[in-house]
Amino acid sequence: MSTVAKPVNSVTPSNRSTMRALVKHHAGPGLKFVADRPRPTPGPRDVLIRVLKAGICGTDRHIWEWDAWAAGRIPVGIVTGHEFVGIVEGIGSAVTRCTVGTRVSAEGHITAGTDFNSRTGNAHIASDTRILGIDRDGIFAEYVTVPEENVWPVHESIPDKVAAVLDPLGNAVHTVMAAGVSAKSVLITGTGIIGLMAVTVAKAAGAGRIFTTDMDPRRRALALKLGASEAFDPRGNDWVDEVRKTCRGEGVDVLLEMSGSSAAYDQGFSALRNGGTAALLGIPAKPPTFNITQHVVFKGATVLGINGRKMFETWYQMEELLIGGRLELDDIITHEFPLEQYEKAHETMISGEGIKVVMSIADR
Ligand code: ZN
Repeated sequence: MSTVAKPVNSVTPSNRSTMRALVKHHAGPGLKFVADRPRPTPGPRDVLIRVLKAGICGTDRHIWEWDAWAAGRIPVGIVTGHEFVGIVEGIGSAVTRCTVGTRVSAEGHITAGTDFNSRTGNAHIASDTRILGIDRDGIFAEYVTVPEENVWPVHESIPDKVAAVLDPLGNAVHTVMAAGVSAKSVLITGTGIIGLMAVTVAKAAGAGRIFTTDMDPRRRALALKLGASEAFDPRGNDWVDEVRKTCRGEGVDVLLEMSGSSAAYDQGFSALRNGGTAALLGIPAKPPTFNITQHVVFKGATVLGINGRKMFETWYQMEELLIGGRLELDDIITHEFPLEQYEKAHETMISGEGIKVVMSIADR
């Protein structure tokens, strides 16, 4: 985004009015590829973006599988997807900073900017949040429109495939930075996509020892490669005692909960020292059974709920870490498929064969 304020009318280079897209076509599993989705038109304050690459998120897995959460939340008929990089191809008449041709990603949490939290620096938890690909048309499509305020210009040193996953990377950065890990021992329960990203982010942010858990041996191996001191299979409780013993007999300073598993909540808080900090990002499928007296009250724990990314503090932090070459993401972004192979792409992600799977939608 340049600082040159030069509003022009909405422009698109071709007259074609339709686009390729993945649509949640029915109240059931899967998505449908269509070639004739009407191309969106930007409103006065919107930016029209031609999507280059899109990441498949855990959220997209819920939408694909059509679980209880998805059935209760996703409107049938929308274009899904929310992690992406693209090129600005048109701007609304009231847009002042974005210019056509800029490579961008975008914050997918869209708010009117008028509620209490938006006006006090906490727009990521605004009461009127609408999310790309969940509440409104997303980015598994050739084109998307987003408000200018949500657009994030991507630094030239950041490759497209990394720029496509700034959304989940931002979740990891937000979690790590909120907890504060510098010179502290850290336990990350669950090393799925964001948990693995959190390993490299925690290392970059100056964590001391980083302990991780995951049932999948491939992910434990990758966590070690990314900088974890030890990666445990969470089945059984021996590892909890081991972590406590090795951390002055008291437990880790920081817990980053990334799995949403009831057992991980229990084990993670058991491994946390008295007075420690827990940042919770994982979303339990149902309310977890959790001993709050033991794990929070008597422990004197600080518990942080993590939602989205801080607008836009997290984005600036993430950019700095990326430009500084501090993050290792090559082994996390494992597969890339063209949009037309969306079924294979989703299967690769869901089976666990792939970690972060990216779909390429257009060339530059
Ligand atoms: Zn996501």
